[in-house]
Amino acid sequence: MTDKRLKKVVIIGGGTAGWMSAALLSKFLSPNGTHVTLIESEQLGTIGVGEATIPHIQNFNTMLGIDEATFLRETKATYKLGIQFVNWGRLGESYIHPFGEYGIPMGDLQFHHFWSRMKQIGDTHSIGDYSLNIVAAKNGKFMRPIDDTTSLASRIPYAYHLDAVLYAKFLRKISEAHGAHRIEGKVVDVKVNSENALIQSVSLESGQIIEGDLFIDCSGFRGVLIEGALKAGYEDWSDLLPMDRAVTAHSKIKEPPKPYTIATAKDAGWTWRIPLQNRVGNGHVYSSRFMDANEATEVLLNGIDGEIMTDPRHLSFKTGRRKSFWTGNCVALGLSSGFLEPLESTSIHLVQEGLIRLVALMPDKDFSPANSREYNRVMGLTYERIRDFILLHYVATQRSDSEFWRYIQKLEVPEIMTHRMSLLEESGHYVSYEYDLFKLDSWIAVMEGQGRAPETYNPIADGVPVDTLRGTMSQLRHAVSEISRQMPTHQTYLKHVLQN
Ligand SMILES: Cc1cc2nc3c(=O)[nH]c(=O)nc-3n(C[C@H](O)[C@H](O)[C@H](O)COP(=O)(O)OP(=O)(O)OC[C@H]3O[C@@H](n4cnc5c(N)ncnc54)[C@H](O)[C@@H]3O)c2cc1C
Repeated sequence: MTDKRLKKVVIIGGGTAGWMSAALLSKFLSPNGTHVTLIESEQLGTIGVGEATIPHIQNFNTMLGIDEATFLRETKATYKLGIQFVNWGRLGESYIHPFGEYGIPMGDLQFHHFWSRMKQIGDTHSIGDYSLNIVAAKNGKFMRPIDDTTSLASRIPYAYHLDAVLYAKFLRKISEAHGAHRIEGKVVDVKVNSENALIQSVSLESGQIIEGDLFIDCSGFRGVLIEGALKAGYEDWSDLLPMDRAVTAHSKIKEPPKPYTIATAKDAGWTWRIPLQNRVGNGHVYSSRFMDANEATEVLLNGIDGEIMTDPRHLSFKTGRRKSFWTGNCVALGLSSGFLEPLESTSIHLVQEGLIRLVALMPDKDFSPANSREYNRVMGLTYERIRDFILLHYVATQRSDSEFWRYIQKLEVPEIMTHRMSLLEESGHYVSYEYDLFKLDSWIAVMEGQGRAPETYNPIADGVPVDTLRGTMSQLRHAVSEISRQMPTHQTYLKHVLQN
């Protein structure tokens, strides 16, 4: 019997996506005798932005056996409990989209129904008062969850703000320790077998030819293999999400790092502020249809609170996704697979998601089309669900104070979005869709935060006597504020972890 196992995996690109791929694939494949080679061009460089993550990154690090303190030191990371959205619903208003759930499960009904019921009878507490992540974030507090599952303190999902360039460097060390091999060079040609449409080899500027069985395209927006050679095509989503530019700059630290990202809506987009251990990352994502680069830079610089350390850096992108992420023997990961603005910090996560799906559907040299069909189906839906959740922040707005926001008001959104929004707003019901990354509590956070809270609740919530409910809700708020009060500050906790 012929051995159909992959012998050579070749990754093009040494950005975050490339080294995440090298680390995971070398860990899983090297023991089988599969060689993992990564080709990157220092001359071309990496995109070098990407600082906020979601809690799933912890699973990725765990799979690689990464110790958290080492990771924090190597990537200059801080902790993140959620994102504060400023001026999204209306100018002057803000809310936090926390990681994790509000309240506690109460019988078979979701918590928000009980909160809505209390609201209907005049209770003015925000749903945020039932989220430890929100209350702790507002108070600049942080700690990792404790083991005691009877305590709310065991439910503190968190992520990190990190330097993606340093993360890639860190993962390079791990990949090389697992046997991955790095080649410096620029891919200038790709040889595709005309009979089976599989990539055979890539040629470098130096003349070196590298053959492979499976190719991972992590070449960033260039998509050297997936688009350059295989013409997989791109589904353009910029009509729905018109943001196509970003300008970024780093600034010096002026205050203790907040345990959350700040995303502030502007006249033609939004700005981010992300505190790391050694600096603050700032950026302005905007639509060039509604603002030029000079004005966008001014908006960014005027909003930075602290001495600016770097010249503004300009980036262009097209929102959308590759029509076929996995084509033949090539899988695109990272920016070569598509891009959604970083409003909910999902790009690095999409690399992780793609890798885990790839490992689950690992092909052999036959490259059965069934594997790639399934991968493309799942990743397509994953992208679409995230796109819709990002879109929710725009669509749920009440702003109409600039040409951009008036354009947003008139957007024709996918029907599924209108349905999900009206279901939640009009009757308080939420339905989870296949491959939703952001679920009920995230939808509630944005809808409530932007003035579109459910107008009613599931009548089954009336089954709990009102005094009992009032008591339970009060105890919950008390527990949340008491735990938060006892938590250390984010800075103190971080310092403690870094020193140990
Ligand atoms: C404005 C902005 C903000 C972002 N913020 C976040 C965020 O907060 N959170 C998040 O999760 N993500 C964020 N991202 C996304 C994040 O930066 C990327 O998803 C992540 O860094 C992965 O990038 P990459 O490795 O795909 O591409 P890149 O970093 O661009 O790397 C591409 C690599 O390919 C190599 N290469 C290209 N062509 C060739 C060639 N011909 N031969 C050899 N090598 C080649 C390059 O040298 C480089 O090594 C953001 C992106 C943008 C644009």
